[in-house]
Amino acid sequence: MTINVSRQIFTLAALTAILTFILDLSLPLGVAGGIPYVAMVLLGIWFPTKRHVIVLAIIGSLLTITGYFLSSAASDIWIVFTNRFLSILMIWITAIIVSLSKETENKLILARKEAVDALEVAKRANSASQAKSDFLATMSHEIRTPLNAIIGFAEALEMGIGADNKDDRNERLNIIASSGRQLNNLISDILDFSKVEAGKLDLNIQPVLPSNVFEHCLPTIQQLTESNNISFQGIKKSNTQIFADPVRLEQIIINFISNSVKYNKPDGSIEFGCYLVPNNHLRIYVKDAGIGIPKEKEELIFSPFDRINHIGSGVGGIGLGLAICKKLTEAMNGTIGYETTLGKGSTFWIEFPTYSS
Ligand code: ADP
Repeated sequence: MTINVSRQIFTLAALTAILTFILDLSLPLGVAGGIPYVAMVLLGIWFPTKRHVIVLAIIGSLLTITGYFLSSAASDIWIVFTNRFLSILMIWITAIIVSLSKETENKLILARKEAVDALEVAKRANSASQAKSDFLATMSHEIRTPLNAIIGFAEALEMGIGADNKDDRNERLNIIASSGRQLNNLISDILDFSKVEAGKLDLNIQPVLPSNVFEHCLPTIQQLTESNNISFQGIKKSNTQIFADPVRLEQIIINFISNSVKYNKPDGSIEFGCYLVPNNHLRIYVKDAGIGIPKEKEELIFSPFDRINHIGSGVGGIGLGLAICKKLTEAMNGTIGYETTLGKGSTFWIEFPTYSS
């Protein structure tokens, strides 16, 4: 934008100089021949820096002097000389005024920019502090809920409540075990995230057949979908191998599946599988017919601790899952993405280059 404006103004200044010079030479302007160059210096108002104004003033002065020697009125030496001298004086006074106004304008622009930057920093600090408060509130909820269940049911059993009946006892022990697993997952997520952030991930990248990873995920997927009454549609298999760490690949798929169950509708459905895409890549996807993601929140999905409208909603999570998935995928040279329609569902996917031996 600045370059375009400068170019136009530069052309205008050059035209003014040429026209003035032609007039100066062709008319008997000995007395006032240099004055029009002031107009050229005035154009400096639209140039970006003070240096441009000085250059215009120098050009104006040089043309004024050249015009004096070449003009037909050069014979009236003293009158012409005095007026040419006055013209040069006017050119430089104008240049100084324009430069000073430019300096003030630049200071104003700088002050305005500093104010905008300060506002941006304050806004960022505010939203970081809001994200931190949300995170602490979510964390304390996510830790306390399973911890209270463990303590409560373990104390009940210790006091003999429900200890005599086998079914009651097993139910309590199941809750204790699943709460323990929940805490374990939470701590794994936090540790994974800090490792990813510190760039200290241990990856074991090798040729992998995704179908094998799918088989390995199946029991977890079945347990997740059945306990939430979500129907699960078969796997689209592929015999193509990709280059990835099988353990991390499984972690990403389980994360996608767990989200598609958590953010689904009652009696909803999910589907997952893989297929080849152009450029020798294999896409692994998890599709749900769930709640979808609002447009204005889409860019926050992969940033840590952001829980798009789910804080305090009763849906478990601390907003780290997708941030970890993104880092893991990228560390394995893959890409991650999703499509979503609010109220209709989302499809999360990862893509990796295929491997042929
Ligand atoms: P968490 O599930 O612990 O909140 P994630 O990082 O896995 O954290 O997901 C971040 C946010 O993205 C979630 O809080 C949720 O708002 C949104 N989200 C993720 N997956 C889905 C999905 N399949 N459908 C709708 N929203 C989703």
